[in-house]
Amino acid sequence: MIRRRPRLASRLMIAQAVVVGVGAGTLLVSAALVAPRLFHEHLASAGVDSTGVRMHAEEAFASAFGISVVVGTVMSLLAALATSWLLVRRISRPVEDLAHSAQEVAAGHFDVDVPDAIFSRELQQLSASFTDMARRLAETESTRTQLVADLAHELRTPLATLEAYIDALEDDVMPRDAAAWATMRTQVARLRRLAGDLRESAAAAEHALGLVLEPVDGRDVAAAAVNAALPRYAAKQVLLRYAGCAEPCPVRADGMRLQQVLANLLDNALRHTPTGGRVTVTARRDAVAFLVTVADTGEGIPPSQLSSVFDRFHRVDPSRVSVDGSGSGLGLTIAKAIVADHGGTITARSDGAGLGSSFMVRLPLLT
Ligand code: ADP
Repeated sequence: MIRRRPRLASRLMIAQAVVVGVGAGTLLVSAALVAPRLFHEHLASAGVDSTGVRMHAEEAFASAFGISVVVGTVMSLLAALATSWLLVRRISRPVEDLAHSAQEVAAGHFDVDVPDAIFSRELQQLSASFTDMARRLAETESTRTQLVADLAHELRTPLATLEAYIDALEDDVMPRDAAAWATMRTQVARLRRLAGDLRESAAAAEHALGLVLEPVDGRDVAAAAVNAALPRYAAKQVLLRYAGCAEPCPVRADGMRLQQVLANLLDNALRHTPTGGRVTVTARRDAVAFLVTVADTGEGIPPSQLSSVFDRFHRVDPSRVSVDGSGSGLGLTIAKAIVADHGGTITARSDGAGLGSSFMVRLPLLT
């Protein structure tokens, strides 16, 4: 059990009172011992010989001196206590506010309003840092809640499909043919991909992808990604072209991860470009960066959605998920995190629906 401790304000006041009390006591005692003796010696050296006069003078001095010392001590005691009380109040109020806010945060209420402690720079910094911490906790909590909701949503469709197929096969209301098995396999593959992408996106968010950064020529990585994608493009009859610049493009990168990013962009381009369309990969450099662009002549992205395509589980057309359940909705989120871990950026451009899209990865050149 936690022992109930005295309040901070009481402790500070007691400490101040002790300091002031000791100071006043020392002053009174030393004044009582030293001042009369000194006055006596002064009278003697001034040649005051009459005992009556001397006693009278000494009594007058003692009473005047005593009264002024007592009045002075009492006044300074009161002044010290009053200023201490004001000081203590101004220190303990923000501390109490913070303690109250911390209790609120501990209880899961992150939306706390910590009054700005303007009394001192340290307290002000403390309350600002606390507010910042509470805001970050609120963000993390909302991301977590959103993630769970998104995940539940993503799992629902393949699980419902599998359940329906299993029921139908069990009740013999559906032929046990290749088409049924193929649909079930597709849903299982979708779940597997979702699990893998979730693991990757969690690792990417924590910068724990274990990148092996080494000098590579960006053009080689781009060319390898294009070569790997060629058969899939040929199967859908979408033309894939590669244009690499003549100058070397040295970058510090994990070649496999960078290729994974480009493979994802090429997959997306293929999925969103109809047969007969064209996808062009361009690798070039400017003074400070290597730039690789994947541009397609496909369905495009409305301007309002250009920045959201990198958000987890964001889909421009959510109805497509059930039609071609191949994407997990995490591809661009992972790609963005990988590129960011290389110190680069990835951006999307499109002139609108039906007008094609282009994604550009920009990495700092190795100098
Ligand atoms: P998904 O697995 O759904 O492809 P991504 O994160 O890779 O997830 O992409 C997010 C969304 O961005 C896609 O669902 C799609 O709506 C949109 N998108 C990505 N690339 C393209 C593209 N080349 N053309 C049109 N839309 C695209």
